[in-house]
Amino acid sequence: LAGQTMNSPLLISSLIQNADRYFGDVEIVSRRGDGTIHRYGYRDCHTRARRLAAALAKLGLEIGDRIASLGWNNFRHLEAYFAVPGMGMVLNTINPKLHRDQVAYIAGHAEARCVLFDLSFLAQAETIAAQCPQALHFIAMCAPEEMPATTSIANLICYEELIAGATDRFEWPVFDETAASALCYTSGTTGPPKGVLYSHRATMIHSYAEVMPDAFNISSRDTITPVVPMYHANAWGLPYAAALAGAKLVLPGPLMDGKSLYDLIEGEGVTFSAGVPTVWSGLLDHVAANGLSFTHFKRMNIGGSACPTAMMKTFREQYGVDVIHAWGMTEMSPMGTICSLQARHANLPEDERQMLRETQGHPVFGVDMRLLDDQGVELPWDGKTTGNLYVKGAWVIDSYYKDVPGSALREGWLPTGDVVTINPQGYIKITDRSKDIIKSGGEWISSIEVENVSQLHPDVQQAACIGIADQKWGERPLLVVIRRAGSNLEKAALFDFLEGKIAKWWMPDDIVFVDSIEIGPTGKVLKNRLRERFSGQDGP
Ligand code: ADP
Repeated sequence: LAGQTMNSPLLISSLIQNADRYFGDVEIVSRRGDGTIHRYGYRDCHTRARRLAAALAKLGLEIGDRIASLGWNNFRHLEAYFAVPGMGMVLNTINPKLHRDQVAYIAGHAEARCVLFDLSFLAQAETIAAQCPQALHFIAMCAPEEMPATTSIANLICYEELIAGATDRFEWPVFDETAASALCYTSGTTGPPKGVLYSHRATMIHSYAEVMPDAFNISSRDTITPVVPMYHANAWGLPYAAALAGAKLVLPGPLMDGKSLYDLIEGEGVTFSAGVPTVWSGLLDHVAANGLSFTHFKRMNIGGSACPTAMMKTFREQYGVDVIHAWGMTEMSPMGTICSLQARHANLPEDERQMLRETQGHPVFGVDMRLLDDQGVELPWDGKTTGNLYVKGAWVIDSYYKDVPGSALREGWLPTGDVVTINPQGYIKITDRSKDIIKSGGEWISSIEVENVSQLHPDVQQAACIGIADQKWGERPLLVVIRRAGSNLEKAALFDFLEGKIAKWWMPDDIVFVDSIEIGPTGKVLKNRLRERFSGQDGP
């Protein structure tokens, strides 16, 4: 027996329609690369998104076509976020920090017919133009006077000219909610990047879930700034969640240093932000060095890599900013678990509450989890037993782009590649990525845990722990450390500090001090590079 409610499809265009109608004056603030600010409201964004959609249709682009973007977090990229899926095309957000050949590989694999790019990424767009014959239209996201004087791209189109000549009477088409909306590629540290193709339905349900109080808790009273890039997993869905809730949106553009972030957060009254741990240390250093504080900034969501305990505590205890740990994957749109504490935790001693905050949290309703050993046997949720995490849910992919449906799954579940424990209440703790875990004498050492403890030392700016081949044990941990500026911390002192804080056999065999640790295009430490750099060596 069918229900008698309307079967309105869940389409992304409804988000910007909603924001226009009810929050038309709510601001969208973008900072340009030169530090100047662009401001307008959701109504203007909607008008321009409709013009862009009409203009793309006029170029001959059709429903289902892939439109690539190479863009910062800014208003034009946001317009594409609504215009492209809104008219039934697929926005293929390419990470411009990838190697240029990988950028062209992605545009080729996606068969992108059109490329929208910020001028900072002209070189990447030129590579696509040279290597991808199917890409017919190139649109520079700038004003006419900013157009590059020379370029190898033939017939380069100016975004502002294009939309100025288009109608804003464009009506969003209505189509099946299972249609594709966006295509994001995983970073491909091992093998070529793989395409993750989202649907309208998945993105819409993900947006509803994201604003919930125990998820990101986003409302019309918030001002949110996604520091996570719009070329990475849809900026964790934040642009869509903001339009759903009617929250003021602050887009930071390319400037991610501590001072720029602080000025924007303070100046625009930002209440909530989200990003990977690496960007936040710059902000903390700036705030500490200048004796600053935050007026409105109350919550931030950190994920993508484990958030160091020290960072979490400093934000909370010294600056009153609640750090909410989260875990997810591009393959999961990307939201998986979020660490909000519950009523039953209210009376726990503070150290137990802190231990919970350091877990990656509880699945958001809509995500199911399973813990299995290497043979596929179900393991207990006791907070101690380590196993492989599998997930399923309405916003989790079942196959990579162009692969057979279901081919990414095992018995209906997506293997995450993460090794975790799950406590009886469903809080997960990521021990490691399966490829980063250190296997020593048949047991597992959590590189994340060793890093976390090392980073509690006040002179350690960053630590990365990797496994080095060892004849007797298989692998042994090596700790790679960047000291804080001006510190002359010695190996012996750091070993003393670690003593008693981690299991004896987890103690790194050696510690090396370095000036820099390579960070990948999605903001994570490139452990495979570190392993290459240090394998077989006793010291630097
Ligand atoms: P995202 O884009 O959301 O970072 P990626 O697909 O690039 O997703 O990477 C997902 C992987 O990042 C996860 O499988 C996990 O290994 C790691 N990760 C994400 N969040 C966390 C976290 N809070 N703690 C530890 N690892 C994390």
